[in-house]
Amino acid sequence: MDYQNFFRSELDKLRDEGNYRVFADLERERGNFPQAANFIEDSVRKVTIWCSNDYLGMGQHPVVLSAMHDALDKVGAGAGGTRNISGTTHHHVLLERELADLHGKEAALLFTSGYVSNWAGLGTLGAKIPGLVILSDALNHASMIEGIRHSKAQRIIWKHNDLEDLERHLASLPAEQPKLIAFESVYSMDGDIAPIKEICDLADKYNAMTYLDEVHAVGMYGPRGGGVAEREGLMDRITVIEGTLGKAFGVMGGYITASRELVDFVRSFASGFIFTTALPPAVAAGACAAIRHLKVSAEERDGQKEKVAKVRAMLDKAGIPHIDNPSHIIPVMVGDPVKCKWLSDVLMDQHGIYIQPINYPTVPKGTERLRITPSPVHTDEDIEKLIGALSDLWEQCQAARMPMAAQ
Ligand SMILES: *Cc1c(COP(=O)(O)O)cnc(C)c1O
Repeated sequence: MDYQNFFRSELDKLRDEGNYRVFADLERERGNFPQAANFIEDSVRKVTIWCSNDYLGMGQHPVVLSAMHDALDKVGAGAGGTRNISGTTHHHVLLERELADLHGKEAALLFTSGYVSNWAGLGTLGAKIPGLVILSDALNHASMIEGIRHSKAQRIIWKHNDLEDLERHLASLPAEQPKLIAFESVYSMDGDIAPIKEICDLADKYNAMTYLDEVHAVGMYGPRGGGVAEREGLMDRITVIEGTLGKAFGVMGGYITASRELVDFVRSFASGFIFTTALPPAVAAGACAAIRHLKVSAEERDGQKEKVAKVRAMLDKAGIPHIDNPSHIIPVMVGDPVKCKWLSDVLMDQHGIYIQPINYPTVPKGTERLRITPSPVHTDEDIEKLIGALSDLWEQCQAARMPMAAQ
């Protein structure tokens, strides 16, 4: 086999489909986010980021930075080992306490990312509970899918957010078979929200455990930023709540929270927890500060809601189609991978606006989109610039406007 030729031709295929991924080389400006520098070949230009998952700007918040500086100066750079071999620092212990408290659970377990927490959490439960069947929402994140696959447990995929389909599957299983329903609260590509209460009711009826990914909700929903389950008073009905420290909390890392026994079980059996170096203590300290801050401050959440509403209203006025959903995520529907990439390129090159195109396989073909995530640190001027540019380009690429693009 000519290996290089093979790699090249596979990559060419992606390019032809408009699905080849190009990363923007960015340098955020602390205190001035969402403004950033964008490096292109020999030059640098200023851009405004409109697609960050640092939803609340906590990645530059003074309380987070000062906690990280303090920890770095006090204890140094790395954890120096796995959690078992000298890598459990006091910052990790404090952070796990903070996380358990955030979700009203007995215990929490940290991982190096949200991806790893899903992969290891679901992977371990699926592999180590004899006969477990995992009922997985069809639109679950890749990290959940990989964890379930890796566990080799029996897997049933139910139609996205479809309670009837979920119940049909639950009812078809033997009553005594152990079951776990795995789903998300806010789905990140359409921005829709799961019927958590009804799923918990079904879990009770069929004696199933529940595993909820609140990655796109922690920090942002609920009076203390505990997620959608907190907002709806349902945290105690969920068996495992999983989250990230890398999105609204602005730092990095992932976690699960659950009963003391379940967390201890995963801690004791999960390869993806045991055999890897712990997060740097300064990262744990920064995440801890972000969580503590967002437990008591609604300012960031309120600011975000206001900006999201404003962007939506202005898109409506301009006739630009976007999915109407109950979350903070605004998917502007383009429906064509080449146009989607073209829009993104021209926004960046001519308007200094950075929105990554979202194409297949992240979303189904024909639903290509620009996923906009307004934050409290975007200004009204940023918003006006964004809508003005989008509106102009919409004309040029002859994308459908509402109400023609009925959804
Ligand atoms: C981003 C994401 C993850 C992974 O979290 P990271 O901390 O970025 O690894 C897990 N679940 C969902 C739904 C996500 O969008």
